[in-house]
Amino acid sequence: MQRIGNYIGGEIVPPVNGQWMDNVDPAVGRPYALTPASDSADVDRAVAAAEAAYPAWSATSVEERAAVLMRLREAIDRRKDQLAMAECIDGGKPITRARDHEIPRVLSNFRYFAAAIQHNHSELYPGANNTLNMILRRPRGVVGLISPWNLPLYLLTWKVAPAIATGNTCVAKPSEVTPMTAHLFAEICREAELPAGVVNIVHGRGAEAGAALINHESIRTVSFTGGTATGRAIASAVAPGFKKLSLELGGKNPTIIFDDAPGAALQASVMAAFANTGQICLCGSRILVQQTIYESFVKSFVQEAEKLRVGDPLDGATQIGSLVSHDQLQKSIRYAALAREEGGRILLGGERFRPAAERCRDGFFFSPTVVVGLDSKARTCQEEIFGPIVTIAPFRDLDHAIALANDTGYGLSASVWTQNIDKAHRVAGAVDCGTVWINCWLVRDLRVPFGGTKQSGLGREGGDEALRFFTEPKNVCLRVN
Ligand code: NAD
Repeated sequence: MQRIGNYIGGEIVPPVNGQWMDNVDPAVGRPYALTPASDSADVDRAVAAAEAAYPAWSATSVEERAAVLMRLREAIDRRKDQLAMAECIDGGKPITRARDHEIPRVLSNFRYFAAAIQHNHSELYPGANNTLNMILRRPRGVVGLISPWNLPLYLLTWKVAPAIATGNTCVAKPSEVTPMTAHLFAEICREAELPAGVVNIVHGRGAEAGAALINHESIRTVSFTGGTATGRAIASAVAPGFKKLSLELGGKNPTIIFDDAPGAALQASVMAAFANTGQICLCGSRILVQQTIYESFVKSFVQEAEKLRVGDPLDGATQIGSLVSHDQLQKSIRYAALAREEGGRILLGGERFRPAAERCRDGFFFSPTVVVGLDSKARTCQEEIFGPIVTIAPFRDLDHAIALANDTGYGLSASVWTQNIDKAHRVAGAVDCGTVWINCWLVRDLRVPFGGTKQSGLGREGGDEALRFFTEPKNVCLRVN
């Protein structure tokens, strides 16, 4: 069986403790590779390699670093088909999703930050008594980057690219559930002749490798994307050390559909609910529909969801693949049962799905599931399921829609569908979250701040926000006579 390696000081190496864990293909339900179960010994080595690389890397010019990022982009581009296939097998996601959305975004991450650092500028404030106040931005040192399994290489490189572009070196801990593309990325870093130690990757469980990384005393900066409970644990672990922390966490995002919504709202809300098997933090898992069109919308929604082609991720016609793991399958099964207990009516799905493809009979598939009839306070409507389960509920008017949209502990995103721009703008202003889409969903511009409010996180990634996060501003005041 293939063994994935850690990437430390420019070399791909086995874990110090010699321990491995299964890497499972969720569409077939069986292991197909072995991942290092690294611990603090590997993290110590990786941090030491990153510290050794830091003086030279942080002294490189913006032009040199931009050139290295573009070299990485080109090396990724040469391997894009292999990366898409690896993402598809590792995560159970349709090959079309990996090939047409996720790997292109990996390329964009490097292209964007290579350009961004070259167009960046700093402030200067001419003051009284012939003083000039300059703001210098220095990299923060060795940064710790922790990423989840739902968009593995996309989210890993969304952190690596700005971190190294701004002159930091890094130790990344990808999700143990989907380690394969991070492993291929290590090979790509070698092919692109990235200086040794600038990027280091340690595979392993969160409680071991992840905890060792965030608690390492040389790691002063932690960028984390993952679940809210993990984010809370990390926040309390790093607080006494006054580490700089960015947290991109879960969501329970409303899709708000008014009775004058454009026709595209139906298809878009189906995709927002079920894309990547509901395993995108930005999925619209709570649909709120104006009472006047509620019955007809629900009927049409179920008809459209029924048409989704669930099955073998390797099949180019598949729209919905498997869940990422047995744990995620069990979670969806539990939440479907909970929805019933809470008095919900399941209009579609609600159970494990057995695809026609023989090889996928034991895969972790779950049918797209539509639940109605629940109170907004029901746990099914409040908790992030991260599976193909959507709730639909009616609202009376604009104020009621806003109240229901905000009736959650999360605040990541919302999408609003109406042809009345005044109404849309009022809702956009009143919903407490980091991103609002009007008559669209999942449109991402890499220049805009990205992040959540409430339990969806702390801080922002993207554009200038990422450049600021990975640098330390210093005010230098010069008096000239
Ligand atoms: P998770 O929190 O279980 O794991 C995320 C990462 O943290 C993994 O690499 C894991 O190994 C590591 N980890 C776990 N415990 C740790 C600890 N104690 N110390 C350090 N690291 C630790 O999340 P997941 O299940 O991999 O991902 C799904 C979650 O991620 C969902 O809640 C989803 O909404 C969220 N997410 C958020 C965004 C966003 O941008 N807001 C994007 C994608 C996913």
